[in-house]
Amino acid sequence: MAHAVFQSSSLSCSSSADFSKISAKASNIFGSQLRSQEIEQAHLRFLDYFKRNPTVKLKAVMGSSGLAQETIDNKPKVAGVTDEASNHFKELRQRFLGFKKDKYLGNLEHYRRLSEAQAPKFMVIACADSRVCPSSILGFQPGEAFVVRNVANLVPPHENGPSETNAALEFAVNSLEVENILVIGHSCCGGIKALMSLQDEAVSSSFIRNWVVVGKPARLKTKEAASNLNFDQQCRHCEKESINRSLLNLLTYPWIEERVIRGSLSIHGGYYDFIDCTFEKWTLDYRGSGFLTDSEYSIKNREFWS
Ligand SMILES: [Zn+2]
Repeated sequence: MAHAVFQSSSLSCSSSADFSKISAKASNIFGSQLRSQEIEQAHLRFLDYFKRNPTVKLKAVMGSSGLAQETIDNKPKVAGVTDEASNHFKELRQRFLGFKKDKYLGNLEHYRRLSEAQAPKFMVIACADSRVCPSSILGFQPGEAFVVRNVANLVPPHENGPSETNAALEFAVNSLEVENILVIGHSCCGGIKALMSLQDEAVSSSFIRNWVVVGKPARLKTKEAASNLNFDQQCRHCEKESINRSLLNLLTYPWIEERVIRGSLSIHGGYYDFIDCTFEKWTLDYRGSGFLTDSEYSIKNREFWS
């Protein structure tokens, strides 16, 4: 499988040296059916095309040979970036082989069972922030937690319709039958800062803006409760408020509420402060219908790990 993609761009491709590479690449891409004369004709057509369209660049994507992708343009190659990326992957390779040697091969029976099925007890919703990986800070091992991460660890209410977060929830709750849902927020959350910075009437095409607006009720409650605090303190307040709002939003899904009523599913909040490395954990205390009105909720089993 291979395909070529032409994109309009401010870059041009007119170097004959570069074009030789394109031609050679085309021969590989399209296979041996192309005879040399046909390749040469294609070469000339490409060259003519690029001369007439100097603002076009060519991307050649080869699927079957390892997802190699090459963009040809007249920008100087940044060798340092390529070398750095290569080093990063060398590091990842070492880590993977270390995992395989130390964990996988040392627990073959466990991983054999995991290859057949998963039965995690936890569904975790955490922020996409690179500093708050749930597996790193809470030690979840493969098979222990079904995890979805999004900007600001938000759970949209049922009425908002499909999203990748509620798709993951549906699978975790209805198919995997997890026993706990844990929403983890964290300190210095950029998504919450974006939420708190929203201009009320702003219309924006920003994907971030249009996602974090899900947390607007938490923002409103923060503004009411913490208007005397400075902006950073309000953000910190909202980081926790939005977790509770997400816990309440979980109950807007009938298949979640039904399990919570039955006692087969518990929903919890967690707050990871990576400045002083502490973790706060609590559980939503479900009290039946009518519970969702306004801000009526209570929590139980609060713990502070430091
Ligand atoms: Zn965050």
